[in-house]
Amino acid sequence: MSGNDKIFKEAFELIRSKKRILLTTHERPDADGVGCELALKHMFDRLGMEAHIVNDSEFPDLYRFLPGADMVNIYPEGFAGDFDVAISIDAGSRKRLGVVSENLSEDVPLINMDHHISNELFGDVNIVDVDISSSGELVYHFMRANGIEVDLNIATCLYASIVTDTGRFSHENTSPRVHRVTAELLEIGVQPDEMTRRIYGSKRRDVMALQTLSQETLKFSEDGAIAWMHVTNAMHEQTGTSPLDTQDFVDVPKGIRDVKVAVLLREGDTPEFTRVSMRSNNAVDVNLIAGEFGGGGHRRASGCTIEKPMGEAEAALLAVVRKALDAAS
Ligand code: AMP
Ligand code: MN
Ligand code: MN
Repeated sequence: MSGNDKIFKEAFELIRSKKRILLTTHERPDADGVGCELALKHMFDRLGMEAHIVNDSEFPDLYRFLPGADMVNIYPEGFAGDFDVAISIDAGSRKRLGVVSENLSEDVPLINMDHHISNELFGDVNIVDVDISSSGELVYHFMRANGIEVDLNIATCLYASIVTDTGRFSHENTSPRVHRVTAELLEIGVQPDEMTRRIYGSKRRDVMALQTLSQETLKFSEDGAIAWMHVTNAMHEQTGTSPLDTQDFVDVPKGIRDVKVAVLLREGDTPEFTRVSMRSNNAVDVNLIAGEFGGGGHRRASGCTIEKPMGEAEAALLAVVRKALDAAS
């Protein structure tokens, strides 16, 4: 029995009393977001309940192999008609749901299932556990608490959530408990080698070309503690790639010796704004740094959008990172 069992059961009771269910996740979704939506969709389908997945942004190409991926709609597709309840998964704020939130009536009861330390508790019901590895692990415990059988489709989706959000069981959110959950997913039949090949051994060549261009922009602070690189829209044009293809690029600066804070800067759809991904070792809390720019995430992985062109955004961000590193030393 986990500390969340009561709220898991209450939330499930509420959902069961409703007819049309909306499932959604944050903009530019990652494997944790889509893995959880799909796991819940498989659950609702089996229970004979009507659930629709509608997201703000494009489905990430790398996760097309997940069972049920073709059931994910991109707004406005699948959004017609009223929903009786909405479930937001893996999003720290209502704003992160993008156009889906803008078009969802405030009257629809919203269940917020998430694990971000920056979570704004924006739901009518908040199932937020900041100590859990991933939303995938949270959904697993939700299902177990409610006596739901976890079948191979569900297990596959939840494995994708967990393996990516823990960085293949390498980040500080990797706990004995998440290994136990993962062991159960393997017992259900998930093949870790197959999943690894799909997720970590399937980089498209055009994405590799983009990464090479981006790596050429890699820079370091004088003391080597900060490393950053960027991606421009011109690079996307040159390589025929999309902004969704950069999800793991920040691992490049993160993997370099002595780097304490790794940053990826991405030019916005228009050059007036810049998207930022940050990673840190245990030296600084990058959730706080992202928070200074209106973003959030976790202590060791965060993001934000800065309303400035790339060069100015870079300077503004690096100044705050420097300050945080100096304060920590
Ligand atoms: P990413 O660098 O995109 O992989 O994101 C790292 C973490 O920060 C994830 O947990 C994201 O959900 C979160 N995050 C990214 N961008 C933002 C943002 N603009 N606002 C709030 N959280 C964000
Ligand atoms: Mn996510
Ligand atoms: Mn997550």
